[in-house]
Parts: sequence; C-alpha cells; structure tokens
Amino acid sequence: MNTAPILTVRNLKKSYGILDVLRDVSFDLHRGERLAILGPSGSGKSTCLRAINFLDPPTSGTITLEGELIGLHPNGKDHRSATRRKMTARELAPQRAEIGMVFQLFHLWPHLTARENVALQPRKVQRMSSSDANHLAEAMLKKVHLGHKLDEYPGRLSGGQQQRVAIARALAQKPKVLLFDEPTSALDPELVGEVLNVIQELADEGRSMVLVTHEIAFARRMADRVIFMDAGVIVEEGPAREVLANAKEPRLRKFLSTVS
Ligand code: ADP
Ligand code: MG
Repeated sequence: MNTAPILTVRNLKKSYGILDVLRDVSFDLHRGERLAILGPSGSGKSTCLRAINFLDPPTSGTITLEGELIGLHPNGKDHRSATRRKMTARELAPQRAEIGMVFQLFHLWPHLTARENVALQPRKVQRMSSSDANHLAEAMLKKVHLGHKLDEYPGRLSGGQQQRVAIARALAQKPKVLLFDEPTSALDPELVGEVLNVIQELADEGRSMVLVTHEIAFARRMADRVIFMDAGVIVEEGPAREVLANAKEPRLRKFLSTVS
C-alpha cells in the first residue's frame, strides 16, 4: 500500500512587504483524506491555498504533489542566488491542472456558458478536441446536478449553481487534489446546502481534498482532520471530531464559539 502523502507542504512562508502572512506552515494531505482548515479572517488560509498551486508563489518553502516539486525546478538554481528557479506560467500549467481549486467568488467567465466555462481548460491545456471537451464538460456538469443548465450563462444562474459550475470546472481538469476556499461563504443561506452536498459526494468518492470553511458542522461531518490557523501559523491540528469537540487552544475555542 502506498502510504506516502499525496500533498506535502513544508515550511511555507509568505510575506507581502513587511507583512508576514504565512510563518512556517507545514502539513501533509494523505491519499483520500479530507482536511479542513479553519481560522479567523486574515489568518492566511487563502494565501496558503494560493501558494500551494503557485497562483501566488510562496516566499519560501516547498510543496510536493505525489513527490513532484510544484512550481520550482528541482535542480535549476537561480543564477543570482542559491534559491531554486521558479517555473514559468507555461511550465506551471500542467502542474496547476493537477490541483483543482474552487474559490469563494466562483470566478467564472461571464461571457461563456456553463459548458464553455468547464470545457475551456480541457481544450486549452489538455488539448482535447472541442467535441471531447464538450462531452467531458457535460459529464462533469451532470455530476454536480446541472445537466439542465449546460448552455446557460453564469449571470442567469444562482450563486449555488455558479459554484457548482466552478466545481465541475475543477473536476474537468482531472485533478489529483481539490482545494476549496470557503466555497459557500458568498452564498445566500438557502443555497449553501446544494454546494455542500456536492462536496460531500466528492468526499464520498474518496477524493483527496482541502477545504477552508466556516461551516463547522459540515467540517465535523466530512473532514478526517482539522487544522486551525491563526496569524499565519498552525496553532492546533488533529482528528476532526476530537479537535472540534475538545479544542485545547483558547484561540480555537474562541473561534468555535463565534462561528458555531
Ligand atoms: P484568510 O483567507 O485567512 O482570511 P488571507 O490569506 O486572505 O486570510 O490574508 C491574510 C493576510 O494577508 C491579510 O492580512 C491580508 O490582508 C493579507 N494579504 C492577502 N493577500 C494580500 C496581497 N495580495 N497583498 C497584500 N496583503 C495581502
Ligand atoms: Mg480567505
């Protein structure tokens, strides 16, 4: 059995000018594991997810996916310094495809239909034919229960439907891991359930995923493990049920009392 973590995050640091947003964050994600990241607003959760796929490269630290270094050339040193050389956007594209990302604010193209939004990456990056990409898009949209909205534009979809299109788009990349950044926090309360249901279905398929969320009840139900971040560091982590029922760290207890 392969027990090596699918994703490793090691000594991740990120600064914006003098602001140290991530201060040495390390964790693993195991194959099929569901990891929830909790933490107050501004604690660095989104920065951490954006660093993992090099949307916003870390200042230092390393990320590996199935043992492969993300965003950096393994041996290529920058000629001006001792640090590893960063990949170009073109070199990064196939690695990014292996990391499916779902954002708080969906980020769909407004001028493309649901199907076109989902088919875009398979056509452009995976170099599928239009017809294959369209078929894949259709299958992924059906999977998120949007088979009846294939040719609808985002502006004519509810927030919950738009987020499900964004999930279908992430799935069409055939990612090895899924990263969700507060996928329901921009939604009206009555639309949260349909998105959480889809995420639960993906979890039930055994996908490896990291979920940043304020939905504590959902995290308790779905996550295997929880990480609590505050001010750019992990202050508590452990099995979801244990950590959420019996938080040791006062900052986590305070956080749980404000969101639950
Ligand atoms: P969270 O997702 O936990 O709410 P973020 O990762 O979005 O936190 O932000 C952490 C901190 O980093 C905040 O203080 C935020 O203002 C700052 N920050 C995030 N992105 C940038 C950026 N592009 N430039 C400068 N500061 C940023
Ligand atoms: Mg955030």
